[in-house]
Amino acid sequence: MPIDATQLYDDQNIFAKILRGEIPSKRVYEDDVAIAFHDINPQAPTHLLVIPKGAYVSWDDFSARAPDVEIAGFIRAVGAVARAAGLVEPGYRLLANIGQDGHQEVPHLHVHVFGGRPLGPMLT
Ligand code: C5P
Repeated sequence: MPIDATQLYDDQNIFAKILRGEIPSKRVYEDDVAIAFHDINPQAPTHLLVIPKGAYVSWDDFSARAPDVEIAGFIRAVGAVARAAGLVEPGYRLLANIGQDGHQEVPHLHVHVFGGRPLGPMLT
């Protein structure tokens, strides 16, 4: 069920539990501001999720509230994850679902990183 992106942060959401190590994940990256792990239901040969360590519901919440240093660090982390996964050549796709119409299901900001095959045109 997609979430309402304006909701308050729920520290019992599944990615908060992954961040705290209460639920296992196949972690591929960690730095001061972000972690990345394999999506449990991959939609491409490589399908990673990058999430900030800070408590942000969505891209909207993050871009409105996060300090600049955290935003810059998160954007760098997304790039670093894709590079470490070997996706820069021949390319990859980033996606962030936001709120109900964006079909966001987990209320902790996450950026999907897809790659490993030609992804075709963007679907809506
Ligand atoms: O962007 P959206 O919120 O719809 O995507 C949530 C993603 O989190 C899904 O791709 C789902 O497979 C993934 N997920 C996961 N591990 C969980 C729960 C969800 O990788 N334990």
